[in-house]
Amino acid sequence: MTYSKPARTTTRPIRIRRIRVAGLLVVIAAIAAALGYQLPASWPSTAASPSDVLRGDHRGLRIERRLRGEPPGALGEADGAVPDGVTVFDDRYPAVANLDPALHGALRLAATDAAGDGVEFYVDSGWRSPEYQEQLFDEAISKYGSEEEAARWVATPNTSAHVSGDAVDIGRSDATAWLSERGAAYGLCQIYGNERWHYELRPEAVDHGCPAMYADAAHDPRMRQ
Ligand SMILES: [Zn+2]
Repeated sequence: MTYSKPARTTTRPIRIRRIRVAGLLVVIAAIAAALGYQLPASWPSTAASPSDVLRGDHRGLRIERRLRGEPPGALGEADGAVPDGVTVFDDRYPAVANLDPALHGALRLAATDAAGDGVEFYVDSGWRSPEYQEQLFDEAISKYGSEEEAARWVATPNTSAHVSGDAVDIGRSDATAWLSERGAAYGLCQIYGNERWHYELRPEAVDHGCPAMYADAAHDPRMRQ
């Protein structure tokens, strides 16, 4: 199967960077204000609204964690990290417990039936905190060389279906093969052609089958925010 090149959206990477910079300035300004520092008169006072910070800049959250004495990269199970061997039934992990209840229910139902075929569903990733998603996106930028290319593989914190608990990455290959064949009956659909492990709930798939996949996340209209 061949896919066309992803549509180039020249404004998007620039906008992400602008929001991040703007949000960072607000965070720094807030910290400075809390510490009683006067900011220089030239400091941009209207860089971003607080909601921009909440929606768009999780790097600021990480800086706050660092200020609280937490080491950088101290992202653990509370952020959605998953050790090896976790299944869809392991509710003690936030990555599993914080999934949307309908998605989680469909996964457990499918996993129960798959177990009858000798197939077990492992959760490679499920719900993720915004900080965790930001770290993954930053790593993808390093790996792929640009925000635009990274966006084909990893969503930003404000667009990721993992952050909202609406997506799960399933392993291993026997489980993804089982889901690719039978997942639609449970409303479980692969969304991106380049991510055979990434599943979301599409309840209408029970009657109508899964919708056509996007070639990759960059083709998903939800990612253009
Ligand atoms: Zn995924």
